[in-house]
Amino acid sequence: MAEDGHQADAGARTLAVHAGSAPDPATGSEGVPVHRTTGFAFPTVREMTETFAGRTGRFIYTRFDNPTLRESEEKLAALEDGGPHFHAVLFSSGMAAITAALMAALQAGDHLIAQEEIYGGTTGLLGRVLPRCGMTCDFLTAAELSEPRRLRAAARPATRAILLESPCNPTLRVVEIEAVCRTARELGAAVMIDNTLASPIHQKPLKLGCEVVIHSATKYLAGHDDLTAGFVVASGELLARIRQLRIDLGGCLDPSAAWLLARSMKTLALRVHAQSHNAMAVAQRLQQHPKVARVHYPGLPSHPGHEIAARQMTGFGGILSFELAAEGNAPRFVEALRLIRMVPTFGGLATTVTVPAASSHFCLSPERRRAMGIGEDLIRLSVGIEEVSDIIADLERALG
Ligand code: PLP
Repeated sequence: MAEDGHQADAGARTLAVHAGSAPDPATGSEGVPVHRTTGFAFPTVREMTETFAGRTGRFIYTRFDNPTLRESEEKLAALEDGGPHFHAVLFSSGMAAITAALMAALQAGDHLIAQEEIYGGTTGLLGRVLPRCGMTCDFLTAAELSEPRRLRAAARPATRAILLESPCNPTLRVVEIEAVCRTARELGAAVMIDNTLASPIHQKPLKLGCEVVIHSATKYLAGHDDLTAGFVVASGELLARIRQLRIDLGGCLDPSAAWLLARSMKTLALRVHAQSHNAMAVAQRLQQHPKVARVHYPGLPSHPGHEIAARQMTGFGGILSFELAAEGNAPRFVEALRLIRMVPTFGGLATTVTVPAASSHFCLSPERRRAMGIGEDLIRLSVGIEEVSDIIADLERALG
């Protein structure tokens, strides 16, 4: 790794630009067109019947599939690098993608093991929706999941899937993905991972043994804080069920948003490298600041998951969180920032800040948040592509 934690990521920049972006064969248009249509015309009833029976590969109706969606799907599948059997399916949000992945992997009577520290919206979904579908769920912390004996003890005969998020939002805890996948194979459970924070530039979970990768494409993949989307990457029967669930649940993305997403993904590698480079510098500076008690960033050797992250990631990402030395000062601090705005999302070009207890994890009880390591004073920073000296100057001024 280089000083800021990066390894050369062979081919990612080229794949991000070229995968799925061939010229349009009908017109020669160098850019993939936006197919703004809800339906596709058929010359004969026979052709329509054959297409509905799945024998022609033609498009039918945009809720089922649309050619514009394919560009970003092919980019993500190429970047996640799971081989020819893995394909990406685009959804209208990260939550729609997570819902489809869960519904594809589980049925009534099945049991899920989920990581305790996942995104608050996902915790909410598991608590509110799984019981209504006759499914059960138990939670293990990142440290417990990485311990094979602990994971085996939590498994039941009905355990069909394990849901991870590593590094997770906002505590940046890290799971040893290969170890979980080894134990999961013994148990006959599929490992699904939310790879939103790492992005496929820094972590390729399919290469570490996961069966399913999920993204909130709203974050790094779209990268400009201007659209909401999600992906699931899978293979075989799971992939077929996920595609059918997009049709059944109706979580398809509008073609114009899909086109914007594909355009943004062309610069994914450049953006993520710049954001991670800046985040490392910010984390190092905050760690030395007398008014900062703790910094959570997997790139820092002091982080409990640093060694695992250095093994399974090729960079440490653009998100970090921290606590101030003086309790209760988080609101004053974030409100004193000038360049850095308070926005409850991450992965965009601009550096943004949020207090997770008041935003992404607001829907959980204070006890549940404490179990996840999220105190009321935890501050999350999504580091952007600005001059790092300007980001640090704003933070130091507000700390002062
Ligand atoms: N996964 C993670 C890690 C997230 O942080 C979020 C949202 O913040 C989601 C999934 C949900 O994604 P979306 O807001 O695109 O539905």
